[in-house]
Amino acid sequence: LFVEQPLAEGQDVAVSGGAAHYLIGVMRLKVDAPVVLFDDQTGEYLAYVASAGKRDLTLHVAQRLRPREAVPDVWLCQALVKKDRFDWIAEKACELGAARFVPLLTARCVVDKVKEDRLRAHMIEAAEQCERTALPEIAPLAKLDALLREWPAERALYFCDERGGVPFGSAIKAGPAALLIGPEGGFTDAENSAIRAHPAAVAVSLGPRILRADTAAVAALSVWMAAQGD
Ligand code: SAM
Repeated sequence: LFVEQPLAEGQDVAVSGGAAHYLIGVMRLKVDAPVVLFDDQTGEYLAYVASAGKRDLTLHVAQRLRPREAVPDVWLCQALVKKDRFDWIAEKACELGAARFVPLLTARCVVDKVKEDRLRAHMIEAAEQCERTALPEIAPLAKLDALLREWPAERALYFCDERGGVPFGSAIKAGPAALLIGPEGGFTDAENSAIRAHPAAVAVSLGPRILRADTAAVAALSVWMAAQGD
């Protein structure tokens, strides 16, 4: 279970709202039941239910189980796609271990807004499911040209391009990385040229088929994790 506040052994944590409903109403936890907590700051802890009411409960934090994990240094720069698919990509980015999720606005995006709290909620659920102790950072929505302009020189930008590129598996080098995936309609010719001209960019292929944006994101992260992640 994720809690917003930094945790420490010996502390009591008050839980209310949806999390309390889940623990009391769905899991039917009683006093002394164990609960695993993480805070995205100090790590993962074993806690016990100290007291439970109808709508809230108190957990006593007994012992730290793991420090916050070191996250593989890969970002997913993902052009906005329709809401449900974008949520799904955020969830999978968390499961697959991305350090940072960068929502991008490009010429062919059919959506122009992103709800960060909604993305975060999906990532929290995914982290709880896959026992991740660190959430991916969510970057503010960026325009493609600004992203390229402000790009950190030391970070390789693997541009996933359905029009062709080096097979991704053989292009991966050690060091900080980012994966760039377009929207449903892909990148325009002008965007494609601007990305390819960027000094940090390496155009890569995920195979000869045109993948859906959500499939491409998961495929690219999986290939990178298989090569570099731990
Ligand atoms: N129309 C489909 C959809 O609704 O998602 C396909 C969209 S595809 C153009 C979206 C993005 O996925 C592309 O901009 C590219 O970044 C990535 N992509 C898709 N197939 C790819 C491939 N074979 N190799 C590399 N990247 C790919």
